[in-house]
Amino acid sequence: MSQNKYALVTGGSRGIGRAVCLKMAELGYGVIINYKGNKDAAEETAEAVRALNQPAEILCFDVADRDEVKEILGGWMEANKDKVVEVLINNAGVRSDALLPMMSDEQWDNVLGISLQGMYNVTKVALTPMVLNRYGRIINMVSLSGLKGMPGQVNYSAAKAGVIGATKALAQEVARRNITVNAIAPGFIKTDMTADLDEKELVNMIPAKRFGTAQEVADLTGFLASKNAGYITGQVISINGGLYS
Ligand code: NAP
Repeated sequence: MSQNKYALVTGGSRGIGRAVCLKMAELGYGVIINYKGNKDAAEETAEAVRALNQPAEILCFDVADRDEVKEILGGWMEANKDKVVEVLINNAGVRSDALLPMMSDEQWDNVLGISLQGMYNVTKVALTPMVLNRYGRIINMVSLSGLKGMPGQVNYSAAKAGVIGATKALAQEVARRNITVNAIAPGFIKTDMTADLDEKELVNMIPAKRFGTAQEVADLTGFLASKNAGYITGQVISINGGLYS
């Protein structure tokens, strides 16, 4: 593949995002690794991408900050007109759980700002070149919570359900341009995000009796990002060890 073809992974420094960055490199893409605060982790991901003989670029921006996204991501695209971002993985996300009466306005705004507004902010900048190029793959990392709702996660469930609606609508807008838009809905995956959960207790309700791995999510992401997945669009694919969704 041409060295000018890139995949942009938001929240690529750690967890699922890092595994996805490596998968994109395996597919032959250069990788743009976005992160917000964890520079060392982003640099480790970049090293791992380069070890697979693909170029890696690190872009630090807060996906929730529209001006910053325009300035840093838009600026990179403007300065690198010879490079084309063919794949966008909207992966950055946080959870900040509380029952609704105890949830602060900041918890609501922060979770919606990163997952839902973040998807809008980044996709808005990345989409026009894909449309002009008449090719693209957009994959939004959502959650089982966005499909069934989870108590204690009204903010997170709303954010992910919002992204699912946007995925289905955008898929129909851009299908004729050879751009697919899909969502991946993981159940419980072993990352920093789930490190505080009682895994021993929770596995009892998962038919597969274990948490999933970031690698398993990356493998699915890799398929949806591939040319072979060109007729799959507007879908939400669950990866959850059989948890009813
Ligand atoms: P994680 O290990 O906590 O990593 C989160 C990533 O998001 C980090 O790279 C972090 O960057 C980045 N990030 C956070 N806020 C950001 C912001 N405002 N702007 C840019 N980047 C930001 O999480 P994960 O488990 O890999 O989750 C990845 C995605 O999968 C999320 O959307 C999550 O909701 C979803 N998901 C996860 C699970 C699960 O069980 N783990 C289940 C369902 C869905 P820094 O390193 O700079 O902080």
